[in-house]
Amino acid sequence: MCGVFGAFCKNGSSVLEDIYLGLYALQHRGQESAGIAWNPYGGGQEVLSFRGMGLVHVALDQKHLSSIMSNSAIGHVRYPTTGSSDLSNAQPISANYSMGSIAVAHNGNITNARGIRKMLEARGAIFQSTTDTETIIHLMAHQSHKPTLDALVDALRRLRGAYSLAVLLGNRLVAARDPWGFRPLVIGRRDDTTYVASESCALDIVGATLVRDVEPGEIVVIDETGLKSIRIPHTAERKYVCSFEFVYFARPDSVIDGRSVYEVRKTLGCRLAGRSPCPSADMVTGMPDSGTIAAMGYAQCSRQRYEKAIVRNRYIGRTFIQPTQRVRNLGVRIKLNPIKSLISGKELAVVDDSIVRGTTVKRVISMFRQDGAEKVHIRIASPPVRFPCYYGINTPTCEELAAARLDMETLRSEIGADSLDYLGIDDLVSAIGLPGMDVCTACFSGDYLDGGEGNGMDL
Ligand code: SF4
Repeated sequence: MCGVFGAFCKNGSSVLEDIYLGLYALQHRGQESAGIAWNPYGGGQEVLSFRGMGLVHVALDQKHLSSIMSNSAIGHVRYPTTGSSDLSNAQPISANYSMGSIAVAHNGNITNARGIRKMLEARGAIFQSTTDTETIIHLMAHQSHKPTLDALVDALRRLRGAYSLAVLLGNRLVAARDPWGFRPLVIGRRDDTTYVASESCALDIVGATLVRDVEPGEIVVIDETGLKSIRIPHTAERKYVCSFEFVYFARPDSVIDGRSVYEVRKTLGCRLAGRSPCPSADMVTGMPDSGTIAAMGYAQCSRQRYEKAIVRNRYIGRTFIQPTQRVRNLGVRIKLNPIKSLISGKELAVVDDSIVRGTTVKRVISMFRQDGAEKVHIRIASPPVRFPCYYGINTPTCEELAAARLDMETLRSEIGADSLDYLGIDDLVSAIGLPGMDVCTACFSGDYLDGGEGNGMDL
């Protein structure tokens, strides 16, 4: 998972500070590296870039960026799904080739990238990174008789899988979303400036208004003449809008494909209360932060008391996207702390968004018991995660996924809960509110695009 952000200002005002702010709002989508590419004001079609490792405020120098004049720029925060964790894989990836200067920022995983890379290397291409994103630039360079926009369209029609892109073609800003619509991508506007962003929360921070989503299969070109929409020449049989964005990944203050993430999470909790009530529980609580909103929905619909019984150390990142098991374990131990006086002697209904490896929930249940909780019922506001994701979220292999390894009763006993239940796939889809054939549920159902090969995961 990654975050992309782009801006183009018609009146020539600099947009680099906006890019910095937009990336800051998208920090939850990737903490490994951050980067910006821009077309310098008065610099013709030149594209410059800067990339650094770490969080946005560490990787990028806000003061310096704010002093650079550029009315057309893109940015990226990276969460590694393909390629190793080093600066060569940070984005945007930029290049100068015979038709011009370009830079690409990508969210998602291209599932046929490995095959494309082999084919291009056989023709002499020399790759600089191990990311799937670089295949886009090489595909463009292999169409060197075409103008950059035509070469980009031609490259995109060859790709399978997930890509939401912010691209600089010289001074032009381009946004593109794959024909299946896996990852979100929105367009916003403030006065003379047009923005593209992975999530609408990044538009809020720069004072822009959400105009609309980039449609699956759409390429949006933004320059001084305005906004032009063209189609990727590929007809998808159906859409695959990622349901896990609504469950866990996106910020609750974002709107994806017209649906408020906050409202969806609350509805998920409400459906869970209807499907799997805990009438004997003294209170409902949520696993911070991503289970909290579903827990509020659960409590509201079951008319039970809601308490914020677990405090999260807000200076620690999400355990789910830390790179090693050791750090993940440490993270759980130091990041969550139950309020003993609230839970001692009580029966608890604890709502979480999902169980991936089962590490966090097991540790929290053990802390609840140490602090005197009488019973702990776990309710999960999504279906069991049984399959890996090939489209840009680092869910582990089947061997590491708790719900793939263990049946429900064994998992309940393994994590130490008094009861355990999940939401059904139908409930998830109906809570999101999009037609079932538009929503990806592959990590819950195994219903993958192209039957599920992970080609392109390891380049
Ligand atoms: S497999 Fe799961 S995480 Fe991946 S795109 Fe589909 S719903 Fe999202």
